[in-house]
Amino acid sequence: MTEQSAGIADIHWLMDMLQTVDVGLVIVNEDYRIQLWNGFMENHSGLTPRQVREHYLFDLFPEIDEDWLRRKCDPVFLLKNRAFTIWEQRPYIFRFNNYRPITGNADYMYQNSTIFPITDSRGEVSHLCFMIYDVTDAAINKLALQQTNQQLRELSSTDYLTQIRNRGNWEEHLKLEFDRLQRYPQHHSSLIMCDIDHFKKVNDTFGHAAGDLVIQKVSDVIRKSLRTTDIAGRYGGEEFAILLLDTTADQAQYLAERVRRKIEQLDIMYNQQLIKVTMSFGLVERDVNIQNCLQWIETADKALYQSKQNGRNQVTLFKA
Ligand code: GH3
Ligand code: MG
Ligand code: MG
Repeated sequence: MTEQSAGIADIHWLMDMLQTVDVGLVIVNEDYRIQLWNGFMENHSGLTPRQVREHYLFDLFPEIDEDWLRRKCDPVFLLKNRAFTIWEQRPYIFRFNNYRPITGNADYMYQNSTIFPITDSRGEVSHLCFMIYDVTDAAINKLALQQTNQQLRELSSTDYLTQIRNRGNWEEHLKLEFDRLQRYPQHHSSLIMCDIDHFKKVNDTFGHAAGDLVIQKVSDVIRKSLRTTDIAGRYGGEEFAILLLDTTADQAQYLAERVRRKIEQLDIMYNQQLIKVTMSFGLVERDVNIQNCLQWIETADKALYQSKQNGRNQVTLFKA
């Protein structure tokens, strides 16, 4: 083999590799006109090298955010640096459909990419090369894991029976809010503790399953009565706690009174039997005398105790 024919064979093999490698290769000139488009790009875009050659990249692929990609590429041209894009930042540069049989639940191919400079004989950057990696499998796995973790977090913070926050999660919110109020004492937030009246009688008369249903129905009323900023939790068996952010005692009393009336009017049917319940409420607005979360809860609990003492089915605002 002559030296020349050996050189040509090398180039041939190189071109073969470029064409078949399972990575996208795109070379553009300084004007972002496409110069090279390998087999990977052809297979996924359906466009042949002849169809894309000398075309302006952003005309052919209008889904590419031109400003963003140019910002990435500028340092590659100017400083001869490499640049990278990752799917977490933007899922892809080129929007390709995802045809994978296993990970077919992804709508498109997730891509990472490396952009590197190609220099001419004077050492100036004359072209850019994009290497496009298909990272759909890794991305889908990671997204699924994140979703599962989110579901686990929700499960571990939700009360199974009522689907509202459990005590631990609710107390975390109370602590956060108390700390916030320490920093912004001019803000008002109120706390309501409430407890179903004579609930033992419900269990004794209708059975434990009926009691569970009553707890569910009562928590539904509470949940539906609240604003999105209110934070309700199941504090104990048939006790609930409601934290009302940016709410004065007067406003909280109004809300508690509304919930009290709705529960009083609630008709709960269990095995064709009508169950009626009432609920007692104690509430207190956070003020300078309340030194910590526990004291805040205890103070609301004292007001609740007064409601019970005074005949139940009522709202009591704590007075020192
Ligand atoms: P009061 O008006 O003073 O609150 O009277 P009460 O009968 O409601 O008294 P208390 O709060 O002491 O009783 C609560 C009862 O709730 C005791 C417990 O057996 C029952 N309980 C606690 N958790 C559950 C639950 O998840 N399901 C059911 N069915 N009952 C529960
Ligand atoms: Mg009770
Ligand atoms: Mg109780």
